Amino acid sequence: MLIDGHNRVVDYLRVSVTERCNFRCQYCMPEKPFSWVPREELLTYEELFEFVKVSIDEGIKKVRITGGEPLLREGLDSFIKMISSYKEDIDLALTTNGYLLPASAQKLKDAGLKRINVSLDSLIPEVAQKVAQKDVLEQVLKGIETASNIGLKIKINCVPIKGINDTELIDILEFCKQRGFPVRFIELMENTHASEHVKGLNTQEIQDIIKTKYNFTKLERVGSSPSQDYKLDDGYVFGIIEPHKDDFCATCNRVRLTASGVLIPCLYYEDAQSIKEAIKNKDIKKAANILKDVLKNKPEKNRWSEISSDEVSNRAFYETGG
Ligand code: SAM
Ligand code: SF4
Repeated sequence: MLIDGHNRVVDYLRVSVTERCNFRCQYCMPEKPFSWVPREELLTYEELFEFVKVSIDEGIKKVRITGGEPLLREGLDSFIKMISSYKEDIDLALTTNGYLLPASAQKLKDAGLKRINVSLDSLIPEVAQKVAQKDVLEQVLKGIETASNIGLKIKINCVPIKGINDTELIDILEFCKQRGFPVRFIELMENTHASEHVKGLNTQEIQDIIKTKYNFTKLERVGSSPSQDYKLDDGYVFGIIEPHKDDFCATCNRVRLTASGVLIPCLYYEDAQSIKEAIKNKDIKKAANILKDVLKNKPEKNRWSEISSDEVSNRAFYETGG
C-alpha cells in the first residue's frame, strides 16, 4: 500500500501519454506552447507500462490515461491492452476531448477499456468553437454516441466559464441526464498557461444556476472522489469538483506521470521527480523508491483555496493531464 507524508492512501495513477492536443481550450492551452517536448524524449508505451507495473505492484488500483489529447498518440490501444492484461481488475479509464473517438472507440474497448470521461463544455457549435478555438461539437457528440453505443461507460466533464457557457449548464445537465451519463462541473483552476480572459464559476454560482430549475440534495462524499455529488429529486446524480474548497485535498489519492517520465505529486505545484532514467535502466527498485519519495513529499493541499493568493500555479494542465 502507498501512503503519503500526510497519511493519505495513494491508489490512483494518472498517466499523460502526450502533451500535444488538437484543441486549444482557453482554460488549458489557448496557444500552442513555444515548443513541444521532442518525441524522442517521451517514454515509449513499453517504458510507461514498466512504471505502471511498478505502481500497481506497490498498491495503485486505478489508472487513468490522459494528456494533452491521448487519442492523438498512435498505438494507445496497445498501451491499454498491456495494462488490462497485467491486472484484470484494474480500474482503467481514459479522459479525452472525444474528437477522435468515432474512429477509435471500438479498438479501445477491444483492448480492455471500460470507462471514458469526455470533456463537453457546450452544446452550441459556436460556443464549443469559442472554447476549443476549433469547430469541434459535431465530431465530439458523434464520439460520445459511438462510445456509448458500443457499451463504454461515459462521464462528462464540463468547465463552467463566465459569459461563455454559464447559460447552458442546465442544458448540459439535461443532455447527460437523458442519456444516463453523470456530469461533473469542474471549477476552473487558474494557471499561468490559461487565457487571462476566462473566469470560472464557483460552486455556489453553479449550484444557483441548477437551483433555478431543480431541487437537489448534497450526498455524502464517497471514498477519495474529487467530486462532491448532488442528487436531483428524480434520482439523477451530478457532481461539482471544487478545488478552491479548503478541504478539497484532504482525501487526495492521486499521483501523476507525464509522457516524459516526470512524477508529479500535486496538480498545483511544480515539485516533481523523474523516473525516466530508472525505467530506461530497468532499475525497478529505484523507480519504486522514487515513487515512494515523491509521495512522502506530496504537499498537504493546493493553493487554489487561498482566494487572495498572489501566485498562480505554473503547472500546465496539458502536461500533467488535469
Ligand atoms: N484532452 C483531454 C480532455 O480535454 O478531456 C484530456 C486532458 S485535459 C487536460 C483533462 C481535463 O482537465 C479536462 O476535463 C479539462 O476540462 C480539464 N482542465 C483543463 N484545464 C483546466 C483548468 N484550467 N481548470 C479546470 N479544468 C481544466
Ligand atoms: Fe486539449 Fe484537453 Fe487541454 Fe482542451 S483541455 S486543450 S482538449 S488537453
